[in-house]
Amino acid sequence: MLVSTYRISRNGRVSEMTLRPPAFPATSTQTVNEPELDLFARIQQELPEEVLNQKLVIGVGAGSGRGLYEGLARCGVSNFLLIDHDYAEGVNVATQHSVVSENGKRKVNATKERILDINPKAHVTAASLKLDNRFSDKDFESLVGKKLVNDPTDILICGLTDSFPAQSRTANLAMKYGIPYLAAQLYAGGEGGEVYFSYPGVTNNSCPRCALGSRYDAYEAGFHNNVTSNASDYFSSLRMNAIEGKIALMLLMYHEDKRSRYSNMLDMVADRNFVQVRMSPFAGDHLGLHVFDRTITPDYGFFDDTVWIPQVPNNEANGFKTCPLCGGTGDLLALKGSIADTREV
Ligand SMILES: [Zn+2]
Repeated sequence: MLVSTYRISRNGRVSEMTLRPPAFPATSTQTVNEPELDLFARIQQELPEEVLNQKLVIGVGAGSGRGLYEGLARCGVSNFLLIDHDYAEGVNVATQHSVVSENGKRKVNATKERILDINPKAHVTAASLKLDNRFSDKDFESLVGKKLVNDPTDILICGLTDSFPAQSRTANLAMKYGIPYLAAQLYAGGEGGEVYFSYPGVTNNSCPRCALGSRYDAYEAGFHNNVTSNASDYFSSLRMNAIEGKIALMLLMYHEDKRSRYSNMLDMVADRNFVQVRMSPFAGDHLGLHVFDRTITPDYGFFDDTVWIPQVPNNEANGFKTCPLCGGTGDLLALKGSIADTREV
């Protein structure tokens, strides 16, 4: 494209000039493809690439969870395995992270494209499948590869679906293979949310089933969850993604590099591995989420608060029915390798 412009000299003469615009597209393409492009230079002290390049993030659920994966890609995480069978729809634009041009596209493919746009060197496997009984543990092993056996603590598996069976299966897979684990749920209307996290040998005060025992009991008694993302605005997803991301970095960086503040955070909350977030001043009335009324003074608190709640293993001595998954010990190292088939837990 040529651009015509006019120059007026001091004596009033008008002359026409033709300018050639600088070649922005070519320059831009070169910049993206330059091998020395240093995207993560400013965060190396906290999140060194040589550590994060060894890690694999497995994401089960690519709806609200997409914000977590995109955020981790911006932190330098470069290996992803995304599992979701769902398609992006128009209604997701207001509550999750998709855009209109992605409607009808597999959520895992849209997320993969976005991650590669953030870091062109990332390795993203998009698995469009449902984590149901047709998907065996052997299928999982072949999808993940040798790292599952050789370096399970270099993996983080995230349960970020609103399907309870898929969340439960993800937890069972984490326990069977000894993988650090994170699971999150958004409560009705986006007025609150929770994150559970575990790391074998570190967070030994509860397994996922201890922490969510009453929910497991309810589903086994026939409960059907009818909570959707209705009335849950985009910022609730984004707010949860932020705390999920910080916790994910605690798990990924655990004892990896003493210069990083994330290196030992997990030790500080090893027995408080269940987090709740209040995202509305009405969360107590609407959701029965009263922990904030007990822990945050109303003179200062309103919403956007986080509590890290102490956990104990579910056993009779602690006043609970004994946990059928960990046997009431909360010992995740003992649980590793003890589950024959995660579909039958
Ligand atoms: Zn348990």
